[in-house]
Amino acid sequence: MRVYYDRDADVNVIKGRKVAILGYGNQGRAHAQNLRDSGVREVAVALRPGSAAAEGAASANLAVMTPAEAAGWADVLMILIPDELQAKVYAEEIAPNLKDGAALAFAHGFNIHFRLIEPRPEVDVFMIAPKGPGHTVRSEYLRGAGVPCLVAVDRDASGNALEIALSYASAIGGGRAGVIETTFKEECETDLFGEQTVLCAGLNELILSAFETLVEGGYAPEMAYFECLHEVKLVVDLLYERGMARTRRACSNTAEYGDYTRGRRLIGPGVRQEMKRILEEIQSGSFAREWVLENAAGQASFKAMRRRAAEHPIEEVGERLRAMMPWIAENAPKA
Ligand code: NDP
Ligand code: MG
Repeated sequence: MRVYYDRDADVNVIKGRKVAILGYGNQGRAHAQNLRDSGVREVAVALRPGSAAAEGAASANLAVMTPAEAAGWADVLMILIPDELQAKVYAEEIAPNLKDGAALAFAHGFNIHFRLIEPRPEVDVFMIAPKGPGHTVRSEYLRGAGVPCLVAVDRDASGNALEIALSYASAIGGGRAGVIETTFKEECETDLFGEQTVLCAGLNELILSAFETLVEGGYAPEMAYFECLHEVKLVVDLLYERGMARTRRACSNTAEYGDYTRGRRLIGPGVRQEMKRILEEIQSGSFAREWVLENAAGQASFKAMRRRAAEHPIEEVGERLRAMMPWIAENAPKA
């Protein structure tokens, strides 16, 4: 695995270019402000007319343009609007206006890897994907550090795509922490797999199944909430800080013994088989097709699922218990 640092990048490459950031949300705000503070003089934020984010961008001393204007102006256009909207905005506003010799950048491989966006052949296409949320990309940068990034080049039309990408990564702080080389395919498929098995689907279903099992067994929902949801944070923080073996040692011997003897029963061959099927659906593009169709249909079933999930009794218990622990909300990072 190749890792690049600031010493492998020339920050002047990006400083000498016009950089537009499409979107001023979670990632967009951090990228635009870090680029500006790294000395990129011409940074613009591209927003649709009437966007609520325009005021924030302007008061951060950033030029604000429409997506079409930015496409005709920028040497480097970083696309940071939600993934499911990118193809439409690209087709309608970016593609017809994109300047010759421009580079298109992404922070996630989805649209390029699944060919929902197919830029003209003379356009450079690269990815700089910070491995952290925007507020951390910003706060680490301000601290003089940075969040590690992934870098991938899908198309090197100019012969300089990697150099531009590394320079961009350096200007947002990534070069201080390490910029790991990958491909659009690897980043995209592992990202979807991670969220569909562990981070979102797996963790949430595990918590809900355990919560329901305790409540159906006659235990208080409050106890079930503490044991099956609240305490996840303690363990996840330990895993994040010290890995698995030392987390196991930080738990009681009883907990550790239960882990070794029950874990494989719970996450058995059936779960692994399903994981393989989920991976195949990602690799074949069938998940991407399903999600594109869902969006084309106005997210009808997605919205229904979201509504139904929010009605689960764990939400009501959680709200009540979290109100007894006001420090939780106080310590949460500001978005
Ligand atoms: P957000 O949801 O925070 O982006 C919101 C921004 O997109 C707003 O400025 C919004 O403006 C704008 N926007 C929405 N719709 C449109 C539109 N139709 N036309 C123009 N602008 C629009 O996105 P994220 O920052 O979360 O994600 C951006 C990219 O970064 C994605 O590719 C994602 O996968 C990737 N990424 C995200 C990470 C994260 O932690 N969130 C981490 C690493 C990568 P408006 O005010 O007009 O609604
Ligand atoms: Mg991810």
